[in-house]
Amino acid sequence: MTAASYLPQTLRTRSLDSECGIKGAPSSLIGVIEQRRDNDLLYRSLEGRNDKIQVTAHFHVAVFSNSTADTASNETIKKQFQILKDTYARYGISLNLGSISREINDTIAVLSVWNQNEAEDEIIGSSAETEDYWKRTRTGSYEALHIYYYENIVGTAAFCNFAKPNRAKSEYFLDACHLRINVLPGGSAPYRFYGTSAVHEVGHWFGLFHTFEGGCEGEGDYIDDTPAQTVTSANGTCPIGTKDTCPDLPGTDMVNNYMDYTADPCRDTFTPGQYSRMHNVFWAVRAGK
Ligand SMILES: [Zn+2]
Repeated sequence: MTAASYLPQTLRTRSLDSECGIKGAPSSLIGVIEQRRDNDLLYRSLEGRNDKIQVTAHFHVAVFSNSTADTASNETIKKQFQILKDTYARYGISLNLGSISREINDTIAVLSVWNQNEAEDEIIGSSAETEDYWKRTRTGSYEALHIYYYENIVGTAAFCNFAKPNRAKSEYFLDACHLRINVLPGGSAPYRFYGTSAVHEVGHWFGLFHTFEGGCEGEGDYIDDTPAQTVTSANGTCPIGTKDTCPDLPGTDMVNNYMDYTADPCRDTFTPGQYSRMHNVFWAVRAGK
């Protein structure tokens, strides 16, 4: 199959290595995944059943005081929501649009320093002001999805913290996805203006790892039907069936998987194993909390 290309040659050399700054999954989440791995087959056989996941998605936009009214406008946020809704509906997940908040604050609009909580390998607030912002706005239960947009996140385009089993209510403010405004639909990020970065990040929120997790070694992403691969960007192309970074292992790189780093228009698929993982993690970790 010929590799499709979506961008001018001049844009194909940009590195995507900093696309997603998510840290390692908490060992407690991996424990849940290992315990329930047999359920993966169960869920695959039950696609289309009635107990679909229902999640309300809330959006929060932090902009500079001199930003124009159309910076991450509500209309753009609604376009992004529709992409998420249409995508996840194909995997038994029904998203509803909750609130959209807007913060005009030059400090909060740049997530300039973010730190890893070493004990749990997750990202915590970089300043008291940022943490206060999250605490004010990340409302609702552990089933509520909160997506934050900033003018800039220094060092990465986006990240989430993973679903963490038994997370204390006092830490719910850490449970969210954070993205740069320029990866919204129509944004300025090369390869990234189709709204697919949010699909990728919400995949993490539902418990998915990168398809290149662990490279060619070990358990990888703990999913059987995503072939092992290493991280590479494919530089704006979509080499389905021809890119193979772990040639000694079965399968070619699943470059069209949402949890890879390929260009937005290339990524259009979650596998049955990923479908099962999202449902398993939701019911085990988030439901009723
Ligand atoms: Zn990621």
